[in-house]
Amino acid sequence: MTKWNKHSISYLHDALVKKQVTPLELVEDCIKGIQADDCNSFEALAFEEARKAAEQIGEIKEDEYLKGIPFLAKDNYSTKGIETTASSNILNGYVPLFDATAISKLKRAGMIMVAKTTMDELAMGGTGTSGHKGPTLNPYDHERIVGGSSCGSASSTALGIAPLALGSDTGDSVRKPASYSATVGFKPTWGRISRFGLFPFAPSLDTIAYFTRNVLDASYVLTALAGKDSKDMSSSSRKKEHYQDYVINKRSLKKIGYFKAVNDAIEDERLKSKYHELLDKLKDHGYEVVCYEYPVDLLNALYPTYMIISCAESTSNNANLDGIRFGPIAEGNPKTYEEYMKACRTKGFSDLIKRRFVIGSFSLLSQNQFEMFSRAQKARRLIVDNMNKFFDGLDYLILPASYSKPKKIKELSTAWSTKPDFLDNILGLGNFGGFPSITLPLMFEDGLPFGINITGRTFEDGYVLGMAKEIEEITGLKDLVKGDK
Ligand code: GLN
Repeated sequence: MTKWNKHSISYLHDALVKKQVTPLELVEDCIKGIQADDCNSFEALAFEEARKAAEQIGEIKEDEYLKGIPFLAKDNYSTKGIETTASSNILNGYVPLFDATAISKLKRAGMIMVAKTTMDELAMGGTGTSGHKGPTLNPYDHERIVGGSSCGSASSTALGIAPLALGSDTGDSVRKPASYSATVGFKPTWGRISRFGLFPFAPSLDTIAYFTRNVLDASYVLTALAGKDSKDMSSSSRKKEHYQDYVINKRSLKKIGYFKAVNDAIEDERLKSKYHELLDKLKDHGYEVVCYEYPVDLLNALYPTYMIISCAESTSNNANLDGIRFGPIAEGNPKTYEEYMKACRTKGFSDLIKRRFVIGSFSLLSQNQFEMFSRAQKARRLIVDNMNKFFDGLDYLILPASYSKPKKIKELSTAWSTKPDFLDNILGLGNFGGFPSITLPLMFEDGLPFGINITGRTFEDGYVLGMAKEIEEITGLKDLVKGDK
């Protein structure tokens, strides 16, 4: 257990300003935590770079909230001079020449990156078991998944190794693992943070997202990361705000909705009663809570729509991984470019990735495009239109972030699910519409965590954080670290 970094950003900031600790001591403490990790959370380590950066940090002022504090980043962020593989064999040995904008903004704010974290290969998948380093374990139960794709960032935050770990969220890859690890997982509005240097999976859904251990910390990080970036045309030029003000002053809107179909489908009675207990307490706090009938056929369309759109975008974006610019040397002496590429890709990708590229290529074939890709785009439009209708009258959608305990690793199956379950895919709503969405701890059942998720209107990130703060105070579950008694 690390001594310092199990604390929040705001706690560490205070200690740094008061000179009770130095940035170098925080880095050394973080390194010890990484060395003691028993969940398989790490890819490349940047210990020497981190020590050097820490030594260069001078005076820390009251309003330099992030300065001198260590952080971790998922292995799909470009990091200058540090191997970046997206946990894929095809990128083994790849060392980027530049930092992703999110990384350089955190560094500019004075934060220190200490290591890269494991992930599902190329950010596809939700189990945290498909990366080239093998499964990442749940700190609360090593036999279970911590969820993915941002698995190493979730486990390291839960273990108290650093108070911030960057992840990425295309369908739920930060918000679901946050639920399984009793951490806060925040996916801000699409376009609020530049994606430059984040390896693209499905750019119309991909969002920079991250793990912290409380809501206030999540707000400080957004203040540092938000803003227009000339290197990412999809980044928004809307004025950025001081998001921490919403948390400190608990600024929130008043109308909460939940979906009838989701509520009816919850099988876990303890979860259901805890969920309603929370909604009742919110009513006592003066919020209006409404049961909303979102169309069930659109909920059932979430999974197929997500699969077609994300696989199509991913097939096209990852076409550069051809084994020539990156990747293992082909075996069997291939003669043509095509043969070479086939040999490298066969060796470089896991089965999950190959399956998704097949789906993506199939849906993009000119004879299938209309039936598959265009129809998926139309379904997405309907799904988002209906969410916007919801937001015409209501300010927040509040739902459980996971509906069962994290699965046991040995019980995972790669078989195609014949009965897609909308509960499993519900967080994808946030990505379809680019809505800001946050998961925070709700309860524990038999020692395993479950989270609650709040989604709001686009660019109302501040109000989503304000609401999250309200809930954090109700549950009292904050700054949780596994093993901390
Ligand atoms: N579990 C989803 C998938 O498999 C989400 C992935 C993500 O958000 N990166 O695609």
